[in-house]
Amino acid sequence: MKKLDYIKDAVIARNANDPEFLQAVEEVLDSLEIVVEKRPELLTTGVIERIVEPERQIMFRVSWVDDKGVVQVNRGFRVQFNSAIGPYKGGLRFHPSVNLSIVKFLGFEQIFKNALTTLPMGGGKGGSDFDPKGKTDGEIMRFCQSFMTELSRHIGQFTDVPAGDIGVGGREIGYMFGQYKKLRNEFSGVLTGKGLTWGGSLARTEATGYGLCYLTDAMLKDHNETFMNKTTLISGSGNVAIYACQKATALGAKVVAMSDSQGFVYDPNGINLDVMKELKEVKRARISEYVTIVSGATYTAGCANIWNVKCDIALPCATQNELDGTAAKTLLNNGCIAVAEGANMPCTPEAIEVFQTNNVLYAPGKASNAGGVATSGLEMTQNSMRMSWSFEEVDAKLKEIMETIYADISTTAKEFGVEDNFVAGANIAGFLKVADAMISQGI
Ligand code: NDP
Repeated sequence: MKKLDYIKDAVIARNANDPEFLQAVEEVLDSLEIVVEKRPELLTTGVIERIVEPERQIMFRVSWVDDKGVVQVNRGFRVQFNSAIGPYKGGLRFHPSVNLSIVKFLGFEQIFKNALTTLPMGGGKGGSDFDPKGKTDGEIMRFCQSFMTELSRHIGQFTDVPAGDIGVGGREIGYMFGQYKKLRNEFSGVLTGKGLTWGGSLARTEATGYGLCYLTDAMLKDHNETFMNKTTLISGSGNVAIYACQKATALGAKVVAMSDSQGFVYDPNGINLDVMKELKEVKRARISEYVTIVSGATYTAGCANIWNVKCDIALPCATQNELDGTAAKTLLNNGCIAVAEGANMPCTPEAIEVFQTNNVLYAPGKASNAGGVATSGLEMTQNSMRMSWSFEEVDAKLKEIMETIYADISTTAKEFGVEDNFVAGANIAGFLKVADAMISQGI
């Protein structure tokens, strides 16, 4: 019987239909067992019971008209999870798989991630089950305007500042920002990920992928390793994956495979990023087209098969639960030394267990992909100051933040007697910062 089982049981009873959320909460509660041993007063403040319950959950109808004149109805979500250390902050995801469980799990993770960045941001997340794939620009615009018409009632530069996530890039942020401005007659930093001429930050596009590599580099160096000449796999080929590929390559790695939701490409000469960017960022094409352009590359259907490719380093950058226990064992047997998450919760609990019990360095997403939200925080700062920093300035700040996060999670893990357990390090360091703020602010 663990000390926090009674909280776990209450969360399960209250959220029985939310498996992803329960998975995320269980992991954090397991990490906190050693914390309540040292700080039993945390139990009497009720802070753990409070932190696992969102401050507010908003669900709404989003109706819009498609190009054929047919009325379509989607569901919108915003979960404002915790505002103890700053305005709610977290992305919006547009994908058919989006439901309340997924938004709650992402919002919960966001609390600790944002705390780790050292910037004053609370945790939130939102989105819709709308599928942007195959829609025209006009349809995307009408959907975004309808979505923002309702969301605008709940957000604001000092209240809740959403950003992009899967399916929400610069185009969608633009349409939503335009609608917010019309509704409020106000030009403010209410969203991040904006275009560069209207309040966006340089290096935001690159930030999550670059930040992932900065943290991974710090973790490798701390263990007398580097990216140099390391065969690397990157799942996904979206925003995070593309810029992770760029920075990993710049740091000396050879990225030999990338994927999308249909399959993966293997390129023994190293992924040609110009081709990949053209296919994914410009044409929005399937990754399979890569092999028609780059000779020597091969395509395999089934995205999970990417983990069968022999590698030194794996960077899962697609989506939740994309790397399971079997894939983890394959990576281990193939000699993989490090796994760092660009996506949110891409490794299942079974996979994490395999890595941690076999000394594979493993960095959890709430630490290793925090570069995106950290740079969103820097975008908010620039908006408040009414000025903008150069790419180099933002990139330097991002690198410093990622190195600080690594130092923080590593030191915390040591302090609690679980050296190199970066899951525990990240959960505990993030939790303590938010919990202490909540306790100071009263019930
Ligand atoms: P994008 O929409 O730009 O790209 C997502 C990529 O993942 C695409 O290649 C997509 O393939 C693939 N994908 C989606 N669903 C699946 C699936 N079920 N199985 C396999 N592959 C899939 O999203 P981002 O790159 O922005 O986000 C990726 C991950 O990183 C998410 O978990 C997100 O929450 C996380 N993240 C993103 C941040 C950011 O700044 N963008 C910040 C922190 C975390 P396809 O094109 O076929 O759909």
